[in-house]
Amino acid sequence: MLPFLRSDLAQLNAYTPHPEAEGEPNLAVDRLDTNECPYDLPVELKQKLAWTYQHQIEANRYPDGEHDALKRAIAAYVTESATDSVQIDPRQISVGNGSDELIRSLLIATCLGGQGSILVAEPTFSMYAILAQTLGIPVARIRRTEAFALDLREAEAAVSSSTSTPVRVVFVVHPNSPTGNPLTRTEIDWLKQLPPNILVAIDEAYFEFSQQTLVAEIAHRSNWVILRTFSKAFRLAAHRVGYAIAQPTLIQVLEKVRLPYNLPAMSQAAAQLALTHRAQLLQSIPELMRERDRMYAALSQLPRLQLRPSAANFIYAWLETEAETENLRHQLRQLGTSIRFTGGGLRITIGTPAENDRTLQRISSQLQSV
Ligand SMILES: *Cc1c(COP(=O)(O)O)cnc(C)c1O
Repeated sequence: MLPFLRSDLAQLNAYTPHPEAEGEPNLAVDRLDTNECPYDLPVELKQKLAWTYQHQIEANRYPDGEHDALKRAIAAYVTESATDSVQIDPRQISVGNGSDELIRSLLIATCLGGQGSILVAEPTFSMYAILAQTLGIPVARIRRTEAFALDLREAEAAVSSSTSTPVRVVFVVHPNSPTGNPLTRTEIDWLKQLPPNILVAIDEAYFEFSQQTLVAEIAHRSNWVILRTFSKAFRLAAHRVGYAIAQPTLIQVLEKVRLPYNLPAMSQAAAQLALTHRAQLLQSIPELMRERDRMYAALSQLPRLQLRPSAANFIYAWLETEAETENLRHQLRQLGTSIRFTGGGLRITIGTPAENDRTLQRISSQLQSV
């Protein structure tokens, strides 16, 4: 270890996008391990984006550092797609280089310098803990129940503990990755009664699939923030665009702590284009949801495989032991399907119908051959 580095970084495991990648990257593999949409942007939209680059983006100039046009488009989309009647204003939006950047800004704004710790219930999205550790922020980890809900007794003990660094942020995913379950009424009620000196961060990365959102709460809760991304349903993972929705006071702080030109001009243009053409892009969602239900029904029929219903574009499944589960992941990779082994189970992204057919056929051949 280099002697000038912080000693705690030696213990940190970096995020590995494809930990299971064996040998050379192979484009023929079905990539069902990162929950992206299986469909690229339609070619005519790529052409529009190329036109924008050619005629409207000055490569020698810094991009719009305020993200004005993009924030207006996002606020309109969030308002229109909300399941309750809400009116979201551009002043309630902050845009990040992926929602990962926003997670880091939230950590900087709340916990840095020994001021607080974060609470996560595992298994969940790994970036909260990884980013906290890069900043030297302690992570309180609690368990989940059999149905993957937060263990509220442990959660309560963690937020009321007086012995450790106080919890300043509770991170939850709605619906959770990798397990696919949305927050229950009981969990939401627990989050609502948290005191105003604890920030509640609700990651709705899979909102377009689940159609469940807590965005209506933002109007009357100064300690809530909702995170969304263009990386999943909007097919823009390559462009790295995420956004936060919160009251203007919190948004102003996120704007203060971020890097000045955090979002490249092409990414801003791509996100705006996706919103303009949202009806077309989101047309694939009903098909993906039908495919998820078909996969769920078929996987449920297989011997020994356990799984839970999912509100997102992936399914979480596992075998009796972790060793068997990880071995199934390995066997599938040999057969040409990449899925993610995480939290002791397998997270299988819903792909195209052909990819899903191959996944089913490969999993059932493995389970029936033993
Ligand atoms: C995929 C995902 C994201 C997206 O992160 P980006 O940095 O916007 O690509 C955020 N949160 C969760 C829970 C996810 O699964």
